[in-house]
Amino acid sequence: MATIALILAAGSGVRLGSPLAKQYLRLGGIPLLRHSVERFLAHPAIESVRVVIRGDDRSDYDAATTGLTLLSPVTGGTTRQESARLGLESLAGEAPTCVLIHDAARPFPGAALVDRLLAALVHVPGAIAGVPLRDTLKRECDGMVAATVPREGLWRAQTPQAFRYAAILAAHRQAAGRDDLTDDAAVLEAAGGAVQLVAADDANLKVTDAGDLALAERWWRGGGEMRVGSGFDVHRLGPGTGLHLCGVWLPGDRTLIGHSDADVALHALTDAMLGAIGAGDIGVHFPPSDPRWRGAPSRLFVAHAAALLRTQRAELVNLDLTIICERPKVAPHRAAMVAALADLLAIPRGRISVKATTTEGLGFAGRGEGIAAQAVVSVRLGDAP
Ligand code: MG
Repeated sequence: MATIALILAAGSGVRLGSPLAKQYLRLGGIPLLRHSVERFLAHPAIESVRVVIRGDDRSDYDAATTGLTLLSPVTGGTTRQESARLGLESLAGEAPTCVLIHDAARPFPGAALVDRLLAALVHVPGAIAGVPLRDTLKRECDGMVAATVPREGLWRAQTPQAFRYAAILAAHRQAAGRDDLTDDAAVLEAAGGAVQLVAADDANLKVTDAGDLALAERWWRGGGEMRVGSGFDVHRLGPGTGLHLCGVWLPGDRTLIGHSDADVALHALTDAMLGAIGAGDIGVHFPPSDPRWRGAPSRLFVAHAAALLRTQRAELVNLDLTIICERPKVAPHRAAMVAALADLLAIPRGRISVKATTTEGLGFAGRGEGIAAQAVVSVRLGDAP
């Protein structure tokens, strides 16, 4: 079943005291939107992700999603319902079997929750995340309690909401022009489709005001457990026209030899990031035997490791890279390398160090037979899940 995640980020209202729309504010140093985007990208059942944005926000969107491989964004409408419909219409070419619709204001949709939602679609055309009401409900009139409302059977509806694509698209087309349907489940209900409730966890919180953002920040920071990861890699040098280091192309008469683009620095960095969360090594995630990675840009490997970190609410605090070679000289490219890494990892440049050393002419690096790179990263773990 091909599944695409559609993330709604077309709202313009709440600004929480910033010129940025809420979905682009930073949570743990990362734009709010990027949190959920990365979680869906990292989920094995989800093929691709598309974000519905406001046209005016295009540059904020580009900055928030740098380094990620997404379907191109589409522009939403004036209401949430219209934005969802336009997003669904835009997927007609992809024709997914299932679609997950999610609000960018919820940064922490859990992978297990997504699994349960998609499993439900085997039996019903719609399934939504929700939480049974725990508080007693009162109806108010002039500041006084007018009545106590029975809460039995009442749930708070959340996102993600999962649907069979054809069913939700048809329901949205039928409901176009109405403006009283506040979520996509209501659109399917209006068309007579069955919707299953799937219990979400407390972590699936929604950021609507500054208090929520502070709460989400505390969730993200978690207990503050620190981890360190290290990575080391070597690639052979051969005749060529230049080589990649830290994602930057350095022209010259030598190249690095390898299955991918052989960016030895990004390979060491990927291993360090995976090591910090005990997630194996680059060979496990990107086997050299897999033809998909032939000539692949190594930033894909780093982006994958970054997504894995974020699914564990692990924040990359800093990284320190050492490149070991006689040639090329790294110093003239250092600033470009730091900028490329900052872009790729969406963290400030001040948390990134790129250093170079020679081996005084000794060993393979000294003889110019290859380049080695060593990376150390520190990571702060958030709370589970
Ligand atoms: Mg390598």
